[in-house]
Amino acid sequence: MPSENRFGLKHFHGYPRFTEKSLFCYLCKDMNHLVTRQILWNVPIAFIVVMYALLFVLLCAFAWRGRYWWRRVTLGTPEESRVDQSFRRLWIALTEGVGEGTVVRESWGWIHYTFYVAFVGLFIGTSIVFLNSDLRYAAGLVGFDLYFYFGDFYLFFKAAMDTFFLALILGVTVVAARRLILVSPGATRSSLARFGRPSLLSSPPQQKLLDNLENFLGYWYPLLMLVLAAVTGLMLEGARINATHPSFTEWAYVGRQVGWIEGVLGAGIIFHRWLWLTHVLIVYLLLFAFPFSKLRHFLFGPINLFFRYLGPGGRLKPILNFETAETFGVSKIEEFTWKQLLDMASCLECGRCTINCPTATTGKALNPKFLVIEQREHLLDKTPYLLQTKAAAQEGGAAPFWTGPDMIKDVATEQAIWDCTNCGWCEEGCPVGIAHIQRIDDMRRHLVMMESRFPQEAVAAFKGIENQGNPWGLAAEKRADWAAGLGIPEMSALDDRSQIEVLYWVGCAGSYDERNQKVSRALTALMKQAGVKFAILGREERCNGDPARRLGNEYLYATVAQQNIETLDRYQPKRIVTQCPHCYHNLKKEYRDFGGEYEVVHEGEFLAELIRAGRLRPNTAVDQRITYHDPCFMARHDRKWSDAREALHAIPGAQVTDVDQSKNRTYCCGAGGGCFWKEEVGGTRINEKRLSQLEAAEPDTVVVSCPFCMTMIEDAVKSRSSEGESTVTLDLAEVIAKSTGIR
Ligand code: SF4
Ligand code: SF4
Repeated sequence: MPSENRFGLKHFHGYPRFTEKSLFCYLCKDMNHLVTRQILWNVPIAFIVVMYALLFVLLCAFAWRGRYWWRRVTLGTPEESRVDQSFRRLWIALTEGVGEGTVVRESWGWIHYTFYVAFVGLFIGTSIVFLNSDLRYAAGLVGFDLYFYFGDFYLFFKAAMDTFFLALILGVTVVAARRLILVSPGATRSSLARFGRPSLLSSPPQQKLLDNLENFLGYWYPLLMLVLAAVTGLMLEGARINATHPSFTEWAYVGRQVGWIEGVLGAGIIFHRWLWLTHVLIVYLLLFAFPFSKLRHFLFGPINLFFRYLGPGGRLKPILNFETAETFGVSKIEEFTWKQLLDMASCLECGRCTINCPTATTGKALNPKFLVIEQREHLLDKTPYLLQTKAAAQEGGAAPFWTGPDMIKDVATEQAIWDCTNCGWCEEGCPVGIAHIQRIDDMRRHLVMMESRFPQEAVAAFKGIENQGNPWGLAAEKRADWAAGLGIPEMSALDDRSQIEVLYWVGCAGSYDERNQKVSRALTALMKQAGVKFAILGREERCNGDPARRLGNEYLYATVAQQNIETLDRYQPKRIVTQCPHCYHNLKKEYRDFGGEYEVVHEGEFLAELIRAGRLRPNTAVDQRITYHDPCFMARHDRKWSDAREALHAIPGAQVTDVDQSKNRTYCCGAGGGCFWKEEVGGTRINEKRLSQLEAAEPDTVVVSCPFCMTMIEDAVKSRSSEGESTVTLDLAEVIAKSTGIR
């Protein structure tokens, strides 16, 4: 007599129980062994041979392509350790790589995630079928019975597979429709114009048509195969249901409908047989694309994430062997490290790095996606030559001559190298952990230190830092003039420094730039109001070296870093406060490589702390709409955006609103990466684009907390003064000072 189990499914007693040897027999107590299907039913042996022969070829292809990439990636130079913190690395690889954490974060990322989960689910499902069929027979030879493809499990399995098939079809269709209809936000393009546009958000140079064709096929071919595999999978299930009429098809809720249609159309077992072969061939056409196309990111993504850089965000690697090194920076592809070459191999050409990139989105020469792709193509072109050179070196033969393109001049192009603002968006957005900034800076280092080729405007900044300790080249002895009459002590003049709570690091802009001197005065007034015991270095302070380092002059950077470290170590400050995110970043994160370890806080953190402690009381209302512009070096490279907002929210009357491009998604003002010290070439102005974004919140006041953001945003506002622009730009310290009654 049948009875019902907890799912309301009929159990028929009297059928043979499962063998006691089964690994899964404990799962099977309440399961009906006849609720299943015969795996490989109606499939002739010849088809099965074809399936396994193709599987063998596929595995060989994976192994061959694995060796192919291994040989190319290992052409790179050694890298800092990338196997420390292995559990953390594994976690990142699993959550961000296998789990696609960074993909889901982006708008529309859930669509990719839907068909990714569906694909993985179907892959696991196919493996389960394999485990319960041929692998089961193989395991049976050594006394194991792996069979569990029946009963309740089978019914759940059917429902899950049908759901995955549907999700795959739906996900791929939505992604394809989005790609066909939307080329860039709000833009609709004809299909002809779309051809040759590999990314949703970035247009390639026209001459790269061949690459684009490859990219075009690399995008559409897998999508087509995915949808065909899912459709034929559902049809196959329907054809079997239609041909065998099992009595338990409710859970195959899609397959049974498809089977009904196939029945109406007269499909029979011959149709099922050939459909099986067709489905298998389509699946292989898809699987073969993995080792041979950008689908390799499926494997390379988690691997690259495992090896990603885990040190302080935004840090550049120092050159520590100036005395012995023969070359500096990178001018040839093989001079990059193996991890930088692995980055190139791992790029899936998704274009996420371009979404918020200030150069790509304002039409400049640098597009981080194209840069990494072009460098990868160059690596592949040059590999035979590099392998021959390697072999010649081992065997003592003559090395061949490279007559191909020059990596810097012809592949990356110098303008692209100088465009980067080091804002970090590309690294924030990249789902596979590709490090762009170090690669770009390595090429800048070569151009500056080996070839003396760099934007001429940077000469003045280099000379100024070298001779006067500031990039404007203004007199070093005037560094503390801004503080005249304010009664601010200098460290060198103090006999007893033990009472000094913080060393105020003013920075070059805060010391010399008229507008930013006001910020220095506001911040020091706030510190006095809060009763903070502080002092400055005065003339002993020098530029932190950031412009030199970011513009590739690592030698100059190392020199000033060492000078500053000597000064700081002499005074052993308990804490350093600065309003400049670039000073903050270097003192806190980059000086460590030169032996300087300090506790450094940015004004945003410091002011929030003083308000929290009740040492500052913002009591005066500031009845304004305020939008905070996050500096890249705080929000992105250091992931700090809440303190400044906390301080702003403490101001009575202030209505603080954020724009979409804020916090870790902030958009560069255009000054980072040393770009403040050179001309912006090509496209539209970055600071004007940033101002337009901020204006979406209709602010009365844009609040900044970086002296260079201040200049860039104010310049953008001024450039619109003829349009009646009335937005005011204030530093965080200035707006807090207003509300604490400081005039
Ligand atoms: S760091 Fe910023 S400017 Fe440079 S490539 Fe990345 S996103 Fe673009
Ligand atoms: S670098 Fe990263 S974000 Fe940019 S296209 Fe490649 S995978 Fe996508």
